[in-house]
Amino acid sequence: MAAFWTLPDFDDHELVQLVHDRASGLTAIFAIHSLHRGPGGGGTRFWHYADPEDAMRDALRLSRGMSYKNAMAGLPAGGAKAVILAGPERHKTPAMLAAFGDAIEALGGRYVTAEDVGMSEADMVTIAARTSYVSGLPVAAGSAGGDPGPYTAYGIYLGIRAAVAHRLGQDSMAGVHVAIQGTGSVGGGVARLLAADGARLTLADIDTARAAALAVELGAAQASADAIMATPCDVFSPNALGAILDDAGIAALNAPIVAGGANNQLAGPGHGAQLMERGILYAPDYAINAGGIINVTLEYNASHAGESCSAEEVRRQVEEIPGRLTAIWRESDASGQTPDAVADAMARKLIGR
Ligand code: NAD
Repeated sequence: MAAFWTLPDFDDHELVQLVHDRASGLTAIFAIHSLHRGPGGGGTRFWHYADPEDAMRDALRLSRGMSYKNAMAGLPAGGAKAVILAGPERHKTPAMLAAFGDAIEALGGRYVTAEDVGMSEADMVTIAARTSYVSGLPVAAGSAGGDPGPYTAYGIYLGIRAAVAHRLGQDSMAGVHVAIQGTGSVGGGVARLLAADGARLTLADIDTARAAALAVELGAAQASADAIMATPCDVFSPNALGAILDDAGIAALNAPIVAGGANNQLAGPGHGAQLMERGILYAPDYAINAGGIINVTLEYNASHAGESCSAEEVRRQVEEIPGRLTAIWRESDASGQTPDAVADAMARKLIGR
């Protein structure tokens, strides 16, 4: 493997550390991109990587993404990410999580973890027995914290409304056709909020039964997972996988707006420009999908200050997302730069780079 600091995704990260605990078999990478705005916040991914270089790439890329996301959300947090290298059988043990908690504690508060792919609220509780630098823990009803999905969905719903106002000049969602890729925690939540607003929906999920059940509940249409990106509609909302906006994906799109919650939607550096060339308005993913991180960061900061933070305060901060997106699009319209380039420049300024 090439030295990690020579990889294209290395971006002057402040700390990159490999931790190995022989007794439990834990192998993990911590990547702290920036501490400029506060402790490095970002979830832990538990994943089997066939090639360990992919684990390093993920840690580097995702931690930079967290710096941008936290800064754009106005949070007092830097950006970081942890990756636990799972074996092919993805076996996760309490001893492994305890060793992982000890490793977080040894970072002295420079890294604060939360759930990401492969990690649950119960895992956070196990880790919290060894370190206090943990968010995403169970909370009482009405308080900040808990499942980030509904807050992420709320921010995306508000972002879609802002995109429809900006691109289509329409203040109402009545009759606006939205094609939703992925009907899980985030996509399902977005669909319910849009349906309540009178939008026309087409839903798709590789779990066809899941999409079908939601389509029945909401009176929506269903498309196959292969066909959803080409569905003629007003808004294509990706809420499943990253890297879907590649050459073929962008060529297939039949919508003037792309706005959804999936992380890392643009497959490569030229794809924002391809969207713009096709006249498609893009909502930068880390700007529109910050509702969940706002929720867990407010939970963590309140509990560490011995205070409480209400769910209403989280909603108030999530409601700032559409205004930020509109500012990005206006700057893009004025400068001719793509929305993703405008957002990256704004984020980098906020982290002092
Ligand atoms: P989830 O696992 O609850 O739902 C994802 C859904 O996508 C599943 O139903 C899955 O079957 C479906 N799916 C997978 N591949 C698909 C494909 N090719 N076509 C159609 N459907 C497909 O996950 P989630 O929490 O809803 O997250 C969705 C996306 O949003 C992810 O990219 C995640 O990184 C991102 N995100 C989530 C949050 C959050 O708060 N949960 C926050 C920020 C970003």
